[in-house]
Amino acid sequence: MFPIKATSNKQPIIIVGGGLAGSLLAWSMKQKGINFHLYADKKACASRVAAGLINPVTGQRFVLAEHTPDMLTFAKGFYRNIEQAIDIHCFFEKPMKRLFLSQKEQENCKKRLKNDRYAKFLKNELPPQTLNAEHSGITQTQTAWLDTNTLLDALHQYFEQHGCITYASFLEAESKQHIIYCEGYHMQNNPLFSWLPLQAAHGEIITCKSAKILPDYIINKGKWLLPVSEHDCRIGATYETDMETPTVQEVSKQQLLEFAEGAFTEPHSLEVTKHQAGIRPTTLDKQPFIGTHPKFSNIHIFNGFGSRGCLMIPWYANQLMQQQISQEANIQRYAQLCV
Ligand SMILES: Cc1cc2nc3c(=O)[nH]c(=O)nc-3n(C[C@H](O)[C@H](O)[C@H](O)COP(=O)(O)OP(=O)(O)OC[C@H]3O[C@@H](n4cnc5c(N)ncnc54)[C@H](O)[C@@H]3O)c2cc1C
Repeated sequence: MFPIKATSNKQPIIIVGGGLAGSLLAWSMKQKGINFHLYADKKACASRVAAGLINPVTGQRFVLAEHTPDMLTFAKGFYRNIEQAIDIHCFFEKPMKRLFLSQKEQENCKKRLKNDRYAKFLKNELPPQTLNAEHSGITQTQTAWLDTNTLLDALHQYFEQHGCITYASFLEAESKQHIIYCEGYHMQNNPLFSWLPLQAAHGEIITCKSAKILPDYIINKGKWLLPVSEHDCRIGATYETDMETPTVQEVSKQQLLEFAEGAFTEPHSLEVTKHQAGIRPTTLDKQPFIGTHPKFSNIHIFNGFGSRGCLMIPWYANQLMQQQISQEANIQRYAQLCV
């Protein structure tokens, strides 16, 4: 069991990593009055690259996982609270035009439309004429995006004002001090947790300027285009499991541009203004890594949020606060690998 209460008034709990996992966990602790100190270094950070999309119904089979509706409700409230508390705007609800890639996808979606659980999330309306939708499409609702950089900058500034952040790599704690590692894919270099089955996934995103006014919805056709202003959009993302360091590749840029121009019936003359790469902390069973080290009761982890950190992190940070980590996320499921 994670000993938050036991340590709340003594030494601060150390949080290692200033990406979304560490920073949102720190925010949750601040709200509960728990004494913590966050270490954030300048290593590659997936959260600073991510487009921040929140999409409850995913994949070619249009899956709405069991806890997703609850996670979504929780995440919305969580981000809205932060927005109010520190006076920023970082959470934007935006519908998504999902264009089917094949007849098979269309059939999969039709089945979901008959299911009441999906009624709030899928709207049976044809895509606009301005989009190339050879296999038709649908509108997804309850979709959103999180401006992760605005959020992280504001949170770090807030922690700075409260004296609970150090911009450096965490090296050593006092004996028996509680430490929660939120290192993203860098966990693979941490001997305390390198036994966990991480399947890191490299990804690239481009930011573009459009000559034409962009629509006010997200376009998703395997890859996605997210308009962030009338003339600016982000386009992503590639997904590779065989790259160990974030690297921008010309071939990926061309692939993403081709997708985006091909999504519209008329050319938008997109001009690339930024090209970024990051590594997602994806796990073998697609569930997070949360909990206490099997051998050291003061060492903990909060990681493994893969491609869906924006949706999942608030929910699981709350589980940690409640000291109720669900079985599917608890690292106890892999304890036999820790030798
Ligand atoms: C191309 C791409 C697109 C994505 N798109 C989306 C999306 O649309 N929606 C979504 O929800 N998710 C998306 N993701 C996934 C999302 O980025 C992750 O789920 C999430 O950001 C993981 O956050 P994290 O804090 O665990 O890891 P990271 O963001 O990688 O942060 C880990 C941090 O820990 C720091 N660190 C490591 N070791 C130490 C140490 N010893 N001391 C101090 N600091 C340390 C690192 O410097 C880093 O800043 C995307 C990811 C990529 C790469």
